[in-house]
Amino acid sequence: MGLYQTMRIFTAMLATETNTFSPIPTGWSCFEGSGIERGAGITREGTGSLLHLWGEMAVADGHEVVHSVAAWAPPAGKTVRSVYEALRDEILEDARRGGPFDLALISLHGAMVADGYDDCEGDLLIRLRGVLGPEAVVGVELDLHCHITRSMLDQADAIITFKEYPHIDAGARGRELFRLSVDAAAGQTRPVMATFDCRMVNMFPTPTGPMAAFVAEMQDQEGRDGVLSLSLGHGFPWGDVEDSGVRVLAVTNGDEAVARDVARRFGERFFALRDQVSERGLSMDEALDRALAGPSGLIVIADKADNTGGGAPGDSTFMARRVVERGLRDVAIGPLWDPVAVGFCRDAGVGARLRLRIGGKCGPESGDPLDLTVEIRGLSDRLVQRGLGRPSVLGQAAWVEADGAHLILVERREQAFSPDLFTNIGLDLNAMRIAVVKSTAHFRAGFAPIAAGILTTTGPGALLEDFASIPYQKRNPNYWPRVEDPFALEAAEVP
Ligand SMILES: [Zn+2]
Repeated sequence: MGLYQTMRIFTAMLATETNTFSPIPTGWSCFEGSGIERGAGITREGTGSLLHLWGEMAVADGHEVVHSVAAWAPPAGKTVRSVYEALRDEILEDARRGGPFDLALISLHGAMVADGYDDCEGDLLIRLRGVLGPEAVVGVELDLHCHITRSMLDQADAIITFKEYPHIDAGARGRELFRLSVDAAAGQTRPVMATFDCRMVNMFPTPTGPMAAFVAEMQDQEGRDGVLSLSLGHGFPWGDVEDSGVRVLAVTNGDEAVARDVARRFGERFFALRDQVSERGLSMDEALDRALAGPSGLIVIADKADNTGGGAPGDSTFMARRVVERGLRDVAIGPLWDPVAVGFCRDAGVGARLRLRIGGKCGPESGDPLDLTVEIRGLSDRLVQRGLGRPSVLGQAAWVEADGAHLILVERREQAFSPDLFTNIGLDLNAMRIAVVKSTAHFRAGFAPIAAGILTTTGPGALLEDFASIPYQKRNPNYWPRVEDPFALEAAEVP
């Protein structure tokens, strides 16, 4: 039994990362394809793994848990309005029917946009607060690629974001949120939150260098000066909403002035690090040239602009076309989303040669389709790669070769997580000079051990990495790197 009286705890998850520039609608099939879990059907390995963890912690402390829905969809374009509303209302109904609750632990993304809702998380939390009442403690865990909004801050008692990108710490942050929220529900602490807007838009992988040091500094601050938790919301650059961008979020025990002060101190420090923590990608040809000039062994090039993990279609042909046009051999490229081409290959069979139209189907961000004469080198009924925590299923797949360019075509939209996306269909990466992978950061853990070098290219594609020129309509243009010093100007003065 735990330290406190028995509490009634409610949990739910509703999450997707919305690239408002992506042409792909996020509908029922996207959530169902990832496996929606409910109530007693919440599993350790499934979509609701975080809810499962909270449930175990709660039961171990003698509390009573009611799990609602756990729904997650892969990043893509705006969520269909009726789908968002149905999942939201199911959560609200569960909270109403199962209540009253002392505490709610909610797993959200923080960058979910639906038709008619620029801030899905804020909308959900306003309504949930209405059901739970003002006394219940609401603890929220977010992905760090989140837009932290006023509504979220007003409705939640405590918000914690992931600290690591790649996101290896969802469980660790979930444990912290559980402890912090239970302490608050027991009246031992009174969390208050404050944020600092860094006026920055960029992507910030955390494994090495100044970003790793910044994460460590945040963790050092936690538990001191009344600071219960400190988060850096990186923002999600391809979400065109008012609150898009980097924010430091401090949670303190009852002292708002300290929360404001700590958030500002860390926020100003992060802004000062802006040139060191932001990486500049190479053009496609620069990346290929450097790879060819690089050390022997496999050079991995990340095609960040077509990372499905950021909502891009995953069927862009820009890099594959450059490889073919330049006549480069021993280059592996994948995964490229094209279920139609996979179907043709399965009918033709291994060893067949055929003319194949590949990719470029989703929109201008995907480039033109690539017409190649290919040999089918391998087929898979169900290609699986190691993912983050759990396996990533690519579905039916084909390995096709056109004069030394080797493409892995897949049925399901997924980014590259690990080399077995190539090797599990029979392609030997030891025989390759270059592997082009569609991913921004999550490929690193799997590929770094086998790569002689890693390069990144910026596109073209749906995830435009020229952060100064993302065509925002709703986001305030007063941000770095669009303006050199966004703290010097008022928004109205920005050209
Ligand atoms: Zn993320």
